[in-house]
Amino acid sequence: MRIILLGPPGSGKGTQGDLIAKAYGFPRISTGDLLRKAVQEGTPLGRDAAAEMNRGGLVPDSIVLTLVRERIFEPDCRDGYILDGFPRTIAQAEAIEALDPSRPEIVIAIDVPEEELVRRMEGRRACVRCGMVYNLEVRKPGREGVCDGCGSALIQRPDDRPEVVRERLKVYAEKTEPLIAYYSEKKTLRRVDGSIDIETTFGYVRAALDAVVKGARGAGART
Ligand code: AMP
Repeated sequence: MRIILLGPPGSGKGTQGDLIAKAYGFPRISTGDLLRKAVQEGTPLGRDAAAEMNRGGLVPDSIVLTLVRERIFEPDCRDGYILDGFPRTIAQAEAIEALDPSRPEIVIAIDVPEEELVRRMEGRRACVRCGMVYNLEVRKPGREGVCDGCGSALIQRPDDRPEVVRERLKVYAEKTEPLIAYYSEKKTLRRVDGSIDIETTFGYVRAALDAVVKGARGAGART
């Protein structure tokens, strides 16, 4: 099974992806996390990606595809995987189909109005060490500025600064939103309301996934 989470930055793909991972047992693969790790480790690939990420633009397909190709064939992805933040362009969507063509696919698009997205990203904080994500309004850490999980400092991601957020939303509208029509045509798209609380949204996600995941497992297909 390939579960694709589609939605603008700040729509809750990471949060819903973690809940899906826990409920269905598939790993969540976030290309943003893979890229940030490469940047932090100072790999050649990370160095090539950093400037574009800080500007809020898209990293070239060749770089992202290298990371995805390495990750989706690891043993824990055998039964399925969740893609968070990938594909972000039609070319990337075609690339993943070519790379791993035999998997059943479902796409969950999370809808959130733009003003809510801006508010969420401005309040978003991430742990410098473990990457755990908080929100100053809806998902506060126990102690201000400190990660509940590992006790390290919480920071605002450089690309969550207001001017970069505006650029990321523009890039989403231009390059990623066309994927809604693309997957709608393929009849693999389900849309859920992501503007409400996390648990209610997850209820909709579950309703969309249950039939498809069970169907794929029941048919004995390579899920
Ligand atoms: P995210 O954590 O998903 O918001 O990603 C953070 C940044 O990483 C994005 O603003 C892009 O610069 C880059 N990025 C993540 N995924 C992709 C992708 N599939 N294609 C191109 N760039 C990406």
